[in-house]
Amino acid sequence: MRKDSRTKETETPRRRAYRHAHLFTARIHDHAVYARKKKNPDWVQHRKELADQERLNLKIEVLTRYGGAGSLQCCWGECLVQDVDMLTLDHTFNNGARDRRENKCGCGSMLYRRLRRMGYPDGFQTLCGSHQMKKKIMFERENV
Ligand SMILES: [Zn+2]
Repeated sequence: MRKDSRTKETETPRRRAYRHAHLFTARIHDHAVYARKKKNPDWVQHRKELADQERLNLKIEVLTRYGGAGSLQCCWGECLVQDVDMLTLDHTFNNGARDRRENKCGCGSMLYRRLRRMGYPDGFQTLCGSHQMKKKIMFERENV
């Protein structure tokens, strides 16, 4: 990052949007303001709720993209699970361990962000927790 992008007057619109979106976790340039706000429990709670909502929205977006028929649901046959809390992202070719090892951002929001950044590459599908387990059991039966 260039040094002149660190002041509010010269920062790019994109950087400004990023700073606002990640105020709670990202490195803050105005430390005095941030330190003062951090002492306010209401502000901290508000920022936490915003971050939680952002993570949930991201999960919904990614699981919808990889869901059955482009909707937020399990890809397994006739499965009707659509509850976002019960849905997971599955590595279609069972290469999750290698993927996590090779790409340090391997699970949860970090994985979702990586996939969105990469334009949703193939090799993933949305499965409910039960069918994720069933797929694993079937794979182990066939490969033992
Ligand atoms: Zn299912």
